[in-house]
Amino acid sequence: MSRGINRRRFVTGSTSAAVALGLGGVVRGAPKPALLGGSPVRRKGYPSWPIVTESDAEAVIEVVRAGRWYRNRSVQEFERKYAALNQAKYCVACSSGTSALYSSLGALEVGPGDEVIVPPYTFMATVTVVLQHYAMPVFVDSDRETFLMDPARLEAAITDRTAAIVPVHIGGSVADLDRILAIADKHKIPVIGDACQAHLAEWRGRSAGSWATTGCYSFQRSKNLPSGEGGAILTNDEAMADKCYAFHNCCRRLASWSTSTEYTGGRNTNLRMTEFQGALLLSQMEKIEERAKLRTANAEYLSSMLRQIPGVMPARMYDGCTRNAYHLYMFRIDSQALGGLSRDQFVRALRAEGIPCSTGYHPLNKARFIDDALHSRGYLRVYGKKAVDTWAERNECPENDKLCEEAVWFSQRMLLGPRSDMDEIAEAIGKIQAHATALVRA
Ligand SMILES: *Cc1c(COP(=O)(O)O)cnc(C)c1O
Repeated sequence: MSRGINRRRFVTGSTSAAVALGLGGVVRGAPKPALLGGSPVRRKGYPSWPIVTESDAEAVIEVVRAGRWYRNRSVQEFERKYAALNQAKYCVACSSGTSALYSSLGALEVGPGDEVIVPPYTFMATVTVVLQHYAMPVFVDSDRETFLMDPARLEAAITDRTAAIVPVHIGGSVADLDRILAIADKHKIPVIGDACQAHLAEWRGRSAGSWATTGCYSFQRSKNLPSGEGGAILTNDEAMADKCYAFHNCCRRLASWSTSTEYTGGRNTNLRMTEFQGALLLSQMEKIEERAKLRTANAEYLSSMLRQIPGVMPARMYDGCTRNAYHLYMFRIDSQALGGLSRDQFVRALRAEGIPCSTGYHPLNKARFIDDALHSRGYLRVYGKKAVDTWAERNECPENDKLCEEAVWFSQRMLLGPRSDMDEIAEAIGKIQAHATALVRA
C-alpha cells in the first residue's frame, strides 16, 4: 500500500485526528489533553479476550460427556491441523508454551555446563526453561528499532559451550531468521524459535515457527490462539519430533501415542495437553485467520498514522517478516523530540485519554529470579562462584535497557475493533504530542 493512499484514507477517515496532526505532522489546534482538563478521546472499553463462541462450549462439553479427558483424538486432530496451518511436518501439543520450550531444550539434551543464547526483550519463560535445565543463559542485546535480538551481535556470543540459540518473535514480529539461521548453520548450533506470541506470523511467506529446529507456541489465555493454558512444538525433523514427544510424555514413542510404554529416551516428564484444551483449540482455530487479518489491517493503518507524529516510532519489521502476528502493537517514544516528556508521562497521559497501554518488559537480564537461580546450590556447584558472580557484567544489554525505557504497547485485543478505534488512538497521541511541553509540567 502506498503512502499516498494511506495518507488520503487517514485524512478522510478521521477529521479529528487529521486536525490534531495537520499536514506532515505539524500540529495545529489540537484539543486539550485529558490530563490537562480536556475531555478524553474515548470512554468505551475495547473488545474483551478471549472471545467465547457457542462452538467452544459445545466442544468442551462433548469431551466431558465422552469421558475422554486425557490426551486423545482431539489433541491428535489439533496437532495435525496446527502442523498443516504452519506448513510444518510435525506438531507435538503440550501443556504450555513454557513446556514447549522446555521440551525442545530437553530433546536437545541441554544440561549443566551448556550455554543457551537468548534475547533480553521477552517474557521470563524464555529464560526460565534454560534455568530448568541448569544451563547458562547468555543474552544478546536487542536491536532497539525492531525490539528483537540484534543479529549483528549474535556471533560474538557463541562459544564451544553454546547448545542452542533461542530467538524470540516478540509481539508477533519475526526475528531476522536469515542471519540467525546462517550463523547457527555455520557453527552447527540448533535454533529453538520462541513463537509464543507469533501465531500465523511468517518469514518470507512461510510460518515463523517452521524454519528452525523447533518452533514453540503458547495458547495461554492472553495469546492470539487461546485455550487458557496450552502449547505446541513444530518441527520438520522426525527424530526431533520423536525426542520432543518422548521428553514431554514419559519416554513414549511419537507414533504410539498414549498407549505404548516402549523405552525411547533419557530424561523425561509429563507435560501433556489435555483433551479439553485440544477440543477448545480446534474450535478457536476456526477464527484465527479472520482475527489475524483484522489485527493486521488495523495495525498497518495505525502505523501509517503514528509514523507522521514526531517522537513516535512504531517498531520496525525486518524485510523478511512478511506477516506480523501483532500479538502486541509496539512503538517507542523519543522523549527529546517530545519536549522532554518521559515515556511514563506519555503513558499516563494516554491512559487519561481512555486508551489503555503498557510500558512493557523490564530488562530480563537484570531480573532477580536469574540472579537467585545462579546463586543456588546447584549452579554454584556446576559453574563455581566466580562464573556466577561475574555473570551479570558479562550479560549487560545497554540497548535493551534504553528500549525498556522507550517502549509502549497496546494489546492485540485493541486491534480487533473498527478502524475508527485506530483513529481515536492516533488522535489521542496527536493531542499528547501537540501539548507535550505542557504535559511535562503536569
Ligand atoms: C507466553 C510466552 C511464553 C510462555 O508461554 P506459557 O504458555 O505462558 O507458558 C514464552 N515466551 C513468550 C515470548 C511468551 O509470550
